[in-house]
Amino acid sequence: MTRSFDKKFKSLKELKSWQEKTLISFVNYALENGPFYKKRNYPKNIKDIKEFKKLPFFSGDEYKKYNEEFLTNPSSLWRVFATSGTTGKPKLSFYGDDLIESYVIGIGDMLERAGINLEDKNNVGCILFPMGGLTGSGPSTARALEGLKIPAITLGIDVNPEFGSSIMKKIKPNFIFMYPSTFNVFSDKIEKTVDDLKEFKIKAIFSGGEPLLPNIRANIKERWGADVFNLTGSVDISNFTGTECKEHDGFHIFARNAYFEIVDDNGNAVKDGEEGELVLTSLVNKTMPFIRYRTKDIFKYSEEPCKCGLITPRIWFKKRKDDLIILSGAAKIFPQDVAQIVSKFSELTSDYQIKIENFGGKDKLTFIFESRQQSKELEKNIAEALTEISSLYRKIYTDKTVLFPIVKLVPINQLERNRGKLKNRIVDLREKGTTE
Ligand SMILES: [Zn+2]
Repeated sequence: MTRSFDKKFKSLKELKSWQEKTLISFVNYALENGPFYKKRNYPKNIKDIKEFKKLPFFSGDEYKKYNEEFLTNPSSLWRVFATSGTTGKPKLSFYGDDLIESYVIGIGDMLERAGINLEDKNNVGCILFPMGGLTGSGPSTARALEGLKIPAITLGIDVNPEFGSSIMKKIKPNFIFMYPSTFNVFSDKIEKTVDDLKEFKIKAIFSGGEPLLPNIRANIKERWGADVFNLTGSVDISNFTGTECKEHDGFHIFARNAYFEIVDDNGNAVKDGEEGELVLTSLVNKTMPFIRYRTKDIFKYSEEPCKCGLITPRIWFKKRKDDLIILSGAAKIFPQDVAQIVSKFSELTSDYQIKIENFGGKDKLTFIFESRQQSKELEKNIAEALTEISSLYRKIYTDKTVLFPIVKLVPINQLERNRGKLKNRIVDLREKGTTE
């Protein structure tokens, strides 16, 4: 029973020709039936890639604003997921029943890329993604494992440690799906019940939903003795878009799920190997088809063959466009800048919050990190390290428009979370003129 998409094509050329053919027919379906595209007089019946590339982009803001207009074929609706967003208005994602097969094939490939043999009857998955509420990752992963006939347990991070541990010992999962921040909490709990987490003999741990920092990856690997695979995807596009293979060099894309474009600020395609914004067009989910959705994520894309032997192109995450902090004087700090500093301190988890205030006309930045240890000295060292971010250094010492950063260390799991994910990474209080 191999339904692998990774193994379907012998060459990249064959894969691309399948993708282009599928793209044109899928996009034509969307243009014909999608209320959003019909209302805006998009052209109909495009013939080739050239005509496709003349279609306009749409943004996350439009998706949020005209949410219901993306519901295209209600009769094939499988499930509805939602994200709350900061404004309170829920943003709905309509998942069609054609996605079920796409998860089965996609997660099958995801497991094989990580060296898990799908024919092995001893496979058992453990899903620590949130299952309840309206989050998409848990239910989609569970459905995929069901389709692959792989048993799965969904312990959840709130599980009683002894109970969770005894279940794991009995059922013996060999791979885990998790969010890095909540996995820390889970690992701490389970660790209390055994001499060594390695006793569970987990082979692969899949990390999604949040950035996986190098120090967190190393820590998980070391504690569980398992290989850690990062994955990327989005509830908006209703799918996983890429996962790592054993080489851990970029994400192999899921070419069956979406058509990938990387564009510059003007919307023009960048050259192979260059960075740009990822634009996705769905190739499945007729219930909510997306045409040229600007993800705001900056990726590098390359078709260069991978050492693992897969011909599937790869993408490398660089940064997220809207998570950046704009300091007075238009200097920018990207989350990746902070992540780099964080990865130098093994005490820190990947979770932090940045509060920006205005203090006497200057920007005052407070970084709150979750840390295994709290001390004034560590706070001081991290603050020093943060000034290595070049834009911050310039603003503090040359332009003198930003104050020396303040670092506060709090115990793990102290920052406010929503369904396991950090609620607000950046809290900008400058407009309110807050002072202390
Ligand atoms: Zn590879």
